[in-house]
Amino acid sequence: MKYDVIVIGAGHAGIEASLSCAKMGKNTLLLTMLAERIGATSCNPAIGGLAKGHLVKEIDALGGEMAKCTDAVGLQFRILNASKGPAVRGSRAQIDMDKYAIYMRERCLSAKNLTVKQETAQELIVKNGEIYGIKTDLGHIYNCKKAIITAGTFLKGLIHIGEYKKEAGRVGEFASNALSDSLKAHDIKLGRLKTGTCPRIDAKSIDFSVLEIQDGDENPIPFSFHTKKENFVLKQLPCFIAFTNKNTHKIISDNFHRAPLFTGQIEGIGPRYCPSIEDKIDRFSQKERHHLFIEPQSEKATEYYINGLSTSLPPDTQLEMVRSIKGLEDAKIVRYGYAIEYDFVYPTQLTHSLETKKIKGLYCAGQINGTTGYEEAAAQGLMAGINAVLSIDKKEPFILRRDEAYIGVLIDDLVTKGTKEPYRMFTSRAEYRLLLREDNADLRLSKYGYEFGLIDEIFYEKVCRKKEKIKEVLEYLTTNFITPSKQNAQKLALIDEAPVTDKSPLIRIAARKNFNIDKFDRFFPRFADIPIDTKEQILTEAKYESYIKKQQIQIERMKNMINIKIPKDFDFTKVSGLSNEIVEKLNLFNPPTLFAASQISGVTPAAIDILHIYIRMDQKKK
Ligand SMILES: Cc1cc2nc3c(=O)[nH]c(=O)nc-3n(C[C@H](O)[C@H](O)[C@H](O)COP(=O)(O)OP(=O)(O)OC[C@H]3O[C@@H](n4cnc5c(N)ncnc54)[C@H](O)[C@@H]3O)c2cc1C
Repeated sequence: MKYDVIVIGAGHAGIEASLSCAKMGKNTLLLTMLAERIGATSCNPAIGGLAKGHLVKEIDALGGEMAKCTDAVGLQFRILNASKGPAVRGSRAQIDMDKYAIYMRERCLSAKNLTVKQETAQELIVKNGEIYGIKTDLGHIYNCKKAIITAGTFLKGLIHIGEYKKEAGRVGEFASNALSDSLKAHDIKLGRLKTGTCPRIDAKSIDFSVLEIQDGDENPIPFSFHTKKENFVLKQLPCFIAFTNKNTHKIISDNFHRAPLFTGQIEGIGPRYCPSIEDKIDRFSQKERHHLFIEPQSEKATEYYINGLSTSLPPDTQLEMVRSIKGLEDAKIVRYGYAIEYDFVYPTQLTHSLETKKIKGLYCAGQINGTTGYEEAAAQGLMAGINAVLSIDKKEPFILRRDEAYIGVLIDDLVTKGTKEPYRMFTSRAEYRLLLREDNADLRLSKYGYEFGLIDEIFYEKVCRKKEKIKEVLEYLTTNFITPSKQNAQKLALIDEAPVTDKSPLIRIAARKNFNIDKFDRFFPRFADIPIDTKEQILTEAKYESYIKKQQIQIERMKNMINIKIPKDFDFTKVSGLSNEIVEKLNLFNPPTLFAASQISGVTPAAIDILHIYIRMDQKKK
């Protein structure tokens, strides 16, 4: 049997990869080790967060499944950084992790064109440098035109709990050793990373009465642009806040000698921004306490996840440390925290389409590429799936630019810069974050989802209408003016706004700090009937107009550079004003055009300007 695409692994990357291929009409096989664990959330029972929420919204706008599933099984929804600017706000939802997996399993099993098989991929079959098929543990050989590996933390996975070590992809699941060997045999360079998770506590052993409650937002906003707000009615569950204390820290530091992280037992590099508790106590010894978030794992809330307490300390130390925390004095641990080391593929071996440079038709997506997080994985899975299909159809690859999407930033960072530690998304990684907001992901990306057949026409037309309306109102606001007059001052006073002192475009009024939707409706009654999300966009665009324009000019300048060639023999070391790091990167990647140079992570707009001048001087000399 020959499949168009074989996807190995049904985690967050594999789900999006296989669903997108199937939806785009390709005969797709999804191979996974355990069908029950399709869509398993290995770590925290939550989707989204700062910058991760952006990724989920972008996946949704392109036609992926993650946001829809989150809305269906969410237990609590919050907008993080709600008091800050819209560019850095992040949606986050607690989820029922069991229901999440069931939803995704049912979604995969019911998808047209998608076959799911519980088999373990062991060997890549490669002919003339191109993927030809996959051999599984049952000895089956499945041929394919393209294959996507999304094996997560399973390649040579090794878990640690104190002195205890075991080969496993996650606790209780087999490691994937043969596939790792097969990659190596085909000259794909692998590295070693580490991540960890927290203990889970039996709910009936927690004294919630002494813990601070953290509720969801009063008016929760669904993750998916497709979820209708009127259908989004849910009973939200609270989370709780607890703190470590001096005693907790002493218990941990007294047991450093048993921590696999410090004894040399763990060799892989862990996530700097998501450290284990023993790491935090070691690195920030002056801190008197650390925040912990106690989060329900399911709707029945029988088990709680202690966010912030990731650890691989021995079980007895874990229990002692947990019981030193107020509210957890009688805690019973259901599942102990653990660390896991695993092989990953150095992502600089991939092109921007996530295809390996060594084996044509073989793609990698998700944690296997050195990232951490469900959202980062899902985003890559979707992109690898779309690109595998486009390649079969002999179409140009789909590459999102850094100014178009966080997904573009993520993939560009990975394939140009690589990573030495688990990579997670941050808003600070995106240069054009004022343009790449969560709230406008549908406006930015739906056109692609529609073009690929991943989102339907009705939805797409709705987005087009929204875009048109925003444009129309903004045009009205910039081309119509308000003058200082008694009548206008009275109108403004009615909405608690100061009078204008000069003739100014109406957009200046909309841009005022306290000018909200209520004021918009009262001051511009002609637009009061437009949908609320459209009004929100208009106000955001008005408030950040000058910054947005600046970023757009920068982007246009960059786009004009697409065709400016960098001579093959160009000596980057002769360009004064470039940092050593930038010169090193330019030498490494040898970009053919200025645009390609600008896409290398770390190469700044100022560096591009200098390069441009030197290229022009070089051309004059010749
Ligand atoms: C212990 C632990 C702690 C973590 N902590 C964090 C954290 O703190 N923060 C965070 O953001 N993320 C954390 N993660 C990472 C998060 O779980 C992953 O980023 C995310 O699940 C990656 O998605 P993925 O699709 O790449 O892989 P996974 O979700 O790991 O899925 C991999 C899939 O591949 C399948 N598979 C593997 N090998 C084969 C094979 N040979 N044949 C067939 N199927 C195969 C598996 O069965 C599985 O379905 C943690 C993960 C673990 C295990």
